[in-house]
Amino acid sequence: MSTAAKRTYLITGGSGFVGSHLSDALLARGDSVVVLDNLSTGRLDNLRPHPRLRFVQGSVLDELMVDELVHQCDVVVHLAAAVGVKLIVEQPLRCLTTNIRGSEIVIEAAHRYRKKILITSTSEIYGKNSSGPLREDADRILGSPSVVRWAYSTAKAVDEILANAYHRERGLPTIVVRLFNTVGPRQSPSYGMVIPRLVQQAVSGEPLTVYGDGTQTRCFAHVADVVDALLRLLDDEAAIGQTFNVGSADEVSILELAKLVIDHTGSTSGIDLVPYHEAYQRGFEDMTRRVPDTTKLRELTGWVPRHNLDEILTEVVRKVREDLAASTR
Ligand code: UDP
Repeated sequence: MSTAAKRTYLITGGSGFVGSHLSDALLARGDSVVVLDNLSTGRLDNLRPHPRLRFVQGSVLDELMVDELVHQCDVVVHLAAAVGVKLIVEQPLRCLTTNIRGSEIVIEAAHRYRKKILITSTSEIYGKNSSGPLREDADRILGSPSVVRWAYSTAKAVDEILANAYHRERGLPTIVVRLFNTVGPRQSPSYGMVIPRLVQQAVSGEPLTVYGDGTQTRCFAHVADVVDALLRLLDDEAAIGQTFNVGSADEVSILELAKLVIDHTGSTSGIDLVPYHEAYQRGFEDMTRRVPDTTKLRELTGWVPRHNLDEILTEVVRKVREDLAASTR
């Protein structure tokens, strides 16, 4: 446990995948955590009871609740968001409200009480800029706003712009973090994310659904590495007022990924190539390549990811098997 002054962190969306791992890490180093989560995609099971952990069920759209909780804490980490391409495509209105109005409410409360706030954004910010390792100042390339994916990208950009404006014009200590593909235990297969889905399919003996021709690439970071990056940024005064990519640079095509999942599980499942319009809806656009440039984060904090894709898959396969065994017991 570090000797630094212990603080109370409010984590919005703290019972979700990333938030619950961040909560564990903060508690382990001696800090206190208040989680605000409406349990829409987060799960109470993700949080283990702890004397320094308080869970509040509620929405970031509840201004009075957010005001009170921000007032009570020292630092805010805003993770609550409608996430996952599947959810975004299926429920665009809910996503826009949560992501724009919700963030505005949380940032305004942080400003009211002068609390440091870390806002999580997304690699979706870059849209379909598939040009290779993306630096934080890379261009955003978006299609029509009638394509919901670009509406989501725009909503998150509004969050970033708002945070930056509060920093520049009102002196609010803000940090913006763009999360790239993040995986690990507790990530549910229900919201479309590829690794939990493919692993679930492989262990259940179902065909693995690879969308498009599978040549699109992604880089997958372990959630423990992502949490490590968040903590380093939260602890570094020099991060204030800046934007950082967080993600792995270990690039893999989705077809290769599906083959790796089959190897890791020993599954006899085959691979089904599913056209995008069947997987999502007509007009859906995917990124052919998405790779972060994390030089800025590394230079400021010394962060490097510790887990490679093999380790990630081994762990996810083990957890999915354990959960399956527990559910059939
Ligand atoms: N994908 C896939 N099969 C699935 C789910 C996703 O082939 O069952 C693809 C998806 O089209 C994308 C990549 O895997 O090209 C990563 O998808 P995910 O939703 O995990 O994250 P994204 O990078 O799209 O935000």
